[in-house]
This record gives sequence, C-alpha cells and structure tokens, in this order.
Amino acid sequence: MSDGGSVLLAEVALPLPLPRTFAYTVPGELVETALPGARVRVPFGRRERSGWIDTLRRGVPTGKERALLAVEEEPAPPAVLELCRWISRYYFAPLGVALRAAVPPPVSSAPPLQRRVVRLARELPSLAERMRLFARAPRQRECVEALEGLGGVADLAHLTGRLGFSDAVVRALEGKGVVSVADEERARDPYAGRDDAAPSPPPTAAQAAVIEALVEGARGAEGRPFLLHGVTGSGKTLVYVELLREVVERQGRGAIVLVPEISLTPQTVARFRAAFGDQVAVVHSALSEGERRDAWRAIRAGEKRVVIGARSAIFAPLQDLGAVVVDEEHEATYKQGEAPRYHARDVAAVRAGMEGAVCLFGSATPSLESWEHVRSGRFRLLELPERIGALPMPPIEVVDLRRERERRREAGRATRREEGGEGGGEAGEILSSRLRAEVEIRLERGEQTILLLNRRGYASFAQCRACGEVWACPHCSVSLTHHRARRRLVCHHCFHEEEVPELCRLCGSDELTFRGVGTEQVERAVGDAFPAARVARMDVDTTGGKWSHHRILERVERREVDILLGTQMIAKGLDFPNVTLVGVVNADVGINLPDFRASERTFQLLAQVAGRAGRGPRGGLVIIQTSLPDHYVVTHALTHDYAGFAARELNERLEPTYPPHTRLVNVVVSGEDELATQAAVETAVAWVRDLLRTRRVDDVTLTGPAPCAISRIRGRWRWHFLLRSPRGTTLGAVGRYFAERYRPAGDIRVIVDRDPVSLL
Ligand code: ADP
Ligand code: ZN
Ligand code: ZN
Repeated sequence: MSDGGSVLLAEVALPLPLPRTFAYTVPGELVETALPGARVRVPFGRRERSGWIDTLRRGVPTGKERALLAVEEEPAPPAVLELCRWISRYYFAPLGVALRAAVPPPVSSAPPLQRRVVRLARELPSLAERMRLFARAPRQRECVEALEGLGGVADLAHLTGRLGFSDAVVRALEGKGVVSVADEERARDPYAGRDDAAPSPPPTAAQAAVIEALVEGARGAEGRPFLLHGVTGSGKTLVYVELLREVVERQGRGAIVLVPEISLTPQTVARFRAAFGDQVAVVHSALSEGERRDAWRAIRAGEKRVVIGARSAIFAPLQDLGAVVVDEEHEATYKQGEAPRYHARDVAAVRAGMEGAVCLFGSATPSLESWEHVRSGRFRLLELPERIGALPMPPIEVVDLRRERERRREAGRATRREEGGEGGGEAGEILSSRLRAEVEIRLERGEQTILLLNRRGYASFAQCRACGEVWACPHCSVSLTHHRARRRLVCHHCFHEEEVPELCRLCGSDELTFRGVGTEQVERAVGDAFPAARVARMDVDTTGGKWSHHRILERVERREVDILLGTQMIAKGLDFPNVTLVGVVNADVGINLPDFRASERTFQLLAQVAGRAGRGPRGGLVIIQTSLPDHYVVTHALTHDYAGFAARELNERLEPTYPPHTRLVNVVVSGEDELATQAAVETAVAWVRDLLRTRRVDDVTLTGPAPCAISRIRGRWRWHFLLRSPRGTTLGAVGRYFAERYRPAGDIRVIVDRDPVSLL
C-alpha cells in the first residue's frame, strides 16, 4: 500500500455542522471500492459515523489519520457529488450535510426477504364511520390513513419504526378487522395497479409547437432553461411527457420530473406511469428506508430512467441525465426549510447545466425570478396561452366583504362582538349570500365545489371594518403586524413601528379589527349552511399523515365529495372536470402577510385555485371574497392577467429592493432567552458590519436587526437581519465567511438562509 511513505488518503465529508472534511487512510482491501461519492463508515472520536468520500489523494500521512472502516454504498454519480459541492458552497452548508440530503441514509440491517406485512382488510368509506370507529383512538385512525396513503399495504417494521405506530395500535386494528397482518414475500409497490390514466391524446397545434422547441433543445440546439408559461388547463403535462419521450425513449437518457408534493399530484404521476410504465421511479417521503435505498440503486443501475418526486428527487443518481422538468416551478415547497437550505428549482438549472440536460420549468404563474430571467434572456419563454379544447378561462366574480358587512349591519343582524386575533366573525361573514347561493346550485346539480380557506393564523393585521383599510408600512408594500403585548404595529421589513391606532386614518371610523381567519369556524359555517352536503377538509393539521390527501383526492375524483375545503394544498394541479365552482373564502389574509412575497403568493394562489374550475364541458365560476377588491392582486386575478400582475409587482419591489432585483441572505438568530437573543443578534450584526468595513465591501448592505414576524417559535425567540447585494458572488463570499466563522455563544442558533422564499 505504501510507497516511499505515501499512502492513499480519503477526505471524508461528515454530516456535522463543521465546514471541513476529515482525512482517513484507505486500507488495502478498500482501495477498489473507496471512490469519491461512496458512503463510508469511519471512526470519529469515540464513535463511528457514516460519511462520504469527497476526494482521494496520495500523500504522506501525518500519523493522526485513522483508517476507513468500511465502504457502505456504491458511489453517487460524479455529477451528483459535484452538485452537492455546488450546494455546499452556494448555500453555506457543510458538504456532508448536502450529501445527507442527496443520498439515502444507510439501512440499519439487511432487509429480510420475508416481511411481516400489514394490509387494509376493508374500505372505510365515510367520515362518519371513521369517527365512530376511532372516536377514542386517534392513533389507530392515523395508522389507517397512513396505510391508505401507502396504497393499503406496508411493512409492519415500517409502521412501527419510521412511522412510529406502536404494536398495540396495529394489534387493535387487527382486532377490529380493519387490517390483516401476515408474512409475505415482498411489500407491493404502492403505485402498482394505479396506472389508470388513458394513453396521451395527440398534441394540439399549440402543444406541438412547444414540444418541437423542446425536442430541438434536447438535441443540443438550446443551452438555456425553458420557461413554459401555460395557463391552467393548457395541457402542460402532455408537453412534459412528450419531451421525455424524446429524451428517454429516443435518446436513451434519464429524466427527472419534480412536482411540489407527490401526495397532492396523483394525476400527474399517473400520466407518467401510463407513458413510461416500469421505467418510472416515484420517490416520496412515505417510502421506507429500504424502499428508498432500493429505488436509489435501481435508478443508479439504469433500471429506472424516469424519476418523479418532490424536491429531493433532483439528486436522483441517474448516470446520464437528459432532461429535468420542474412542474409548478413557482411553488415555495421547492425550497428546503432546513440545512442545506437549497431551492430545488435553482439546483435543477445547475444540474441540467452541468450535465447538458434540457431544463424545463412550467407554471401558469411563474415566479418573478423566472419571469425576470426571461426578460434578461437567461431563460427562453414558451407559451400555451389557451386551455385545451378552447375552453374559456372561468369567469371570476368578487364579493366585497365590506358591503356584505354593511348589508348585514343594516339588516340589524350585525353582532357587537369584537373579533379576536385568531378569528371570530359570524357565519355570514364567512360565506356571503352570493357564494352560498352558488354552492346551493352546485349541490342541486350534483356538481362539485372547492372552497379555499387560506388560513395563516399568526398573521394578525389591523383593518378598518368600515372602509377595509389595512395598516401598511409607509416604506414597504407589506402590512404591519400587530404585536399585541407591546401594543404596536411593526413592519418586518424596514422595522418601522407605530402605535396601534384608535381611529381609521382614512374614514375616521373606530371599528378597527385585528384579523386572522379561524379554520374551524369556516368548517362549522359550511356544515351549518349545507348540512346534507358531503364535505371533505384537507389541510396539514387535520389529516393524519400527508398520504391521506391522496385518498381524499380519489374520493373527490369519484364524486363522493360535494364540497372540498382546504388550504393552498387544494389549489395545486388538480384536474376535476366536475368542479364547476371555486370559492375563495377570504383573499385578504394572504395579501396582508408581512412578507415581500405576499402579493405574489396570493396572486399565484388565486390564479391556481381559479384554474381548478371549469375544466369540463359544464364550465365554471370563481368567487373571490375580499375586503380589498381594488388591490392589484385581485384586479389582475379577475382578468387572468399574469403579465400585468408581474409588471406591477416587479415595480413594487424596486424600493426597498427585493428579489428579483437584488439577491438576499436572511440571517435568523434564535434563543430561549428573550434578552440574550436580542443581544446575540446585535453582536452578530456588529460582527458583519465590522467585516464589511474592514474588507471594504461596498456592494453588500445590511438591514436590521429586528424581531422576526413570527417572533417566537417553539419557545425560541427569533430575530433576523438581511444582507442584500446586486452581486451574487460578493453576497456569497460574505455569507459564507459569516456562516463558517461566526460562532454564537450559549444556546443561540444562527441560520443563514440564502435566497429565502419567506422572511416570516
Ligand atoms: P395544466 O397542467 O396545464 O393545467 P393539464 O396537463 O392538467 O393542464 O391538462 C388539462 C386537461 O387537458 C387534462 O384533462 C388533459 O388530459 C387534457 N389534455 C391535455 N392535452 C390534450 C390534448 N392534446 N388533447 C386532448 N386533451 C388534452
Ligand atoms: Zn376606515
Ligand atoms: Zn417597512
């Protein structure tokens, strides 16, 4: 092994919050398999850890290096390793942390061929039946819903291990005859037997033109990413499928399709399964560790060449990547909320660039970042401006909630009750008479309704009941957040503060409210108004596991649900022709979030949810309830005018400057003690200011510090400050220097978030 004292040394990246790799010697028996990208077992301190080989070199050991213990997994493809290095640099994360996000973890023991498998023994169709059966056993209900989400079957070990259900829960379900438990050869593929999508129809002329441009791109004619701006219902999925036919079938390369959340997009998955059958690997969070590792190996070995999944699928170990598609590219879920804080859309473009693959972003409401890239020529725009079959976009009506209130007041039915920050409001305020009448009609005709409740409870803002005025920052286009304890209204961007007003500054009324929307009240209002309707509610808080969404959507598809209630998750790419009415219960909440993307998000949400209506021959109608009918978000949504909205919003972000006009890093400092946290953020700010001064950095500006909009989470106080720069490289250098060198004291935590999607 040694020649002249020199040995083979491996630099190993460990998933630890340390910005460095560690050197190990490679013992002779591992020389063949210890390759860059391979997962290895190493001694570290008094214990063992898993890490990844970053680089290999021959060198003279210092004598401190210990030896690698084992090679645990074949190397990730070089492109994936290179991508992780990019992520590590760009997002200020240790390489081992980036790799941990990219490569499935080691599986504790070899998977036995015989598995103990739990299967649903019968369907539990009605909510009523579930409630009766599981009234005192919420864990049992969750377990059933987790099973449903997994296609009705799962390994017992998976349920009791990763998903954390006790043996007793499973036994109780067995006792009730709801599940059966037996030894089987292998758990069934959760997607098997679901390939019920019809084969793709021939493309329309508009689709054909777009497909042609993409196919040319796939043959090397275009190196830039494509942005497909296609209205809701314009047939974007078929375009993706046809691009993949070129790349996968004709060129024999691999492809990745990213979707915002796999459990919410069963229809998209089904279309790819219909086109590519067994070549498709669907990777999602409900896979067991073993299944995930099996999928990883099958992809790496070239057995699966189409990978569909949420953001982490961008790391799929395809050896020869020919295309990356990012569907609904504007979605915030593409940004990971923990380290490495990568944005899968941006990572997709980087990976495609590294591997010479076509990169396609699709959306009816593109992110302003992508839109700006089109304008600057970095992206190439493709458009599908019309719905398939020349179906019209659904008409959108506004119900002015101010008038509704006035009407009720005149009718003498207004109650005197003050609204609390977390909700309040009478049923009449939740469902206007107009919306109620339209729902009624749908129920009579056997058509379906979607009601969107865009509830974000913490966002409490001040609004005049009489004229609808919302207190906004004089310097920023965001509303002020009500800090109840301090009795102040605070801007979370420029840190302006003011007293809570007594009277409306516009109309002088003293009827000021601090508003937030309470979901339960909405649900109750719907139940009261339509007692006979079959209602399903879908949001993160109510459903046992996220896989139960899958089942709810299937029930909607089978028309077993009359009214689907939900948060933004129901706005995504669903295609239900029998949905003829979409109601937005209150558009104000989103608009008034104290975040620079609040308007963009709300516009996207309104446009997307409106896009669920009128996908069938019976047409559709959208009703938006709002106290801000003249807000540009609402007026542009009414006319389905994305370009108009984007132009206006880009203008709003000039002063103070926000992306896409500038690059941002958000630094969040948190701690358990309020004063210590404030002191810590001030120290951090002083540290950065000092750095900027001594290094003479003049194109990075620092704003803050200030409390975060959500000023305390899970007992930790949160403060933040912003770094802005027109130049990504300088911003990156400053951010990295800070992230790697700044070490806070005590229990203080510092998060450095590059290209944040939210500043809350
Ligand atoms: P988008 O994702 O752009 O909102 P979808 O891909 O869901 O739109 O397509 C909308 C509907 O149009 C779907 O029901 C789809 O099956 C149908 N469709 C798409 N392309 C065609 C086509 N060329 N001919 C007929 N129907 C199509
Ligand atoms: Zn007023
Ligand atoms: Zn401000």
